[in-house]
Amino acid sequence: MKALQYRQIGAAPEVVTVPDPEAGPGQVLVKITAAGACHSDIAVMSWPAEAFPYALPLTLGHEGVGTVAALGPGVTGFAEGDAVAVYGPWGCGTCAKCAEGKENYCLRADALGIRPPGLGRPGSMAEYLLVDDPRHLIPIGGLDPVATAPLTDAGLTPYHAIKRSLPKLLPGSTAVVIGTGGLGHVAIQLLRAMTAARVIALDVSEDKLALARTVGAHEAVLSDARAAGVIRELTGGVGAQAVFDFVGAEPTVKTAAAVAAVEADISIIGIGGAALPVGFGLLPFEVSVSAPYWGSRGELIEVLDLARTGALSLHTETYSLDEAPLAYERLHAGQVTGRAVILPGG
Ligand code: NAD
Ligand code: ZN
Ligand code: ZN
Repeated sequence: MKALQYRQIGAAPEVVTVPDPEAGPGQVLVKITAAGACHSDIAVMSWPAEAFPYALPLTLGHEGVGTVAALGPGVTGFAEGDAVAVYGPWGCGTCAKCAEGKENYCLRADALGIRPPGLGRPGSMAEYLLVDDPRHLIPIGGLDPVATAPLTDAGLTPYHAIKRSLPKLLPGSTAVVIGTGGLGHVAIQLLRAMTAARVIALDVSEDKLALARTVGAHEAVLSDARAAGVIRELTGGVGAQAVFDFVGAEPTVKTAAAVAAVEADISIIGIGGAALPVGFGLLPFEVSVSAPYWGSRGELIEVLDLARTGALSLHTETYSLDEAPLAYERLHAGQVTGRAVILPGG
């Protein structure tokens, strides 16, 4: 089969032919319909050899939707042809966190060498994906595969962060979304669907701000050194009760800190690597700062249920598998609107 692989440190990913995977005992083979391209893959492909944690070559893709192509011996509960979304942050399935469905916080994944598809294990940017266990599959019924693939990460990750802050997002509150790309443009819609908060979006270009407005941001503000002052002014000096930073770089965590209201939540989701010091007097009283990772299986089911209500309108650009390297080039250059989605079926 064809697969998009990152093969050599620093080189662009390539479409290559690899052996067709086969479902062993307990496994499910999924024929991929749609696979989303995440900015985290750009980060992975920028890591130096000495810090690279995975084996190469690596088939990319940690967002995926497809149809069940084959069930390994012993697998029940699915039939060939079922349309499924793949829950990506695989865990051991048996520890206390996995028992809660929070496989993203599995206590034993590292020790057991369990990795998500596309982030250590062969990923979804291929004609077929081998899934270790049917519990990683969520039936999607009639949902559109292209719009649904990004929900497994670009939807699930902001959903998890927003859900945690719901008690603070009361009527009259303000939520700030920094970075309105793949994750951020879904975050704005989730905030609109799940809360009565006023949503202020920040990004660096007029195109991205236009997308933010289209998907429901009440205000869209250029992300520069003046942004914090603009947000303070828009909130009558109070600031935002929740800030979701989908960049996580020095200037954006600074903005996040500068716009946080008393008792605000700041979620640093972008992996830009910047730190935000917490200590008495450094931030407004009782601000919580956290760096969440992905979401739980139950939350993915909730995101898909929300999608079924029609509340989410994903903006996607589609590419064939052969064009996937171009999708990553465009993502790297900041040229993708919403999410780039690869269609391995052509
Ligand atoms: P993306 O490229 O689609 O979107 C990023 C957006 O941020 C773009 O619109 C870009 O213009 C904007 N941006 C860049 N610099 C900015 C600045 N200084 N101020 C405001 N906006 C700025 O990326 P994505 O796929 O949505 O991923 C966003 C981030 O989240 C990445 O760092 C990615 O690695 C990370 N991520 C984290 C998790 C997690 O579980 N924590 C999961 C998925 C992705
Ligand atoms: Zn991702
Ligand atoms: Zn576990």
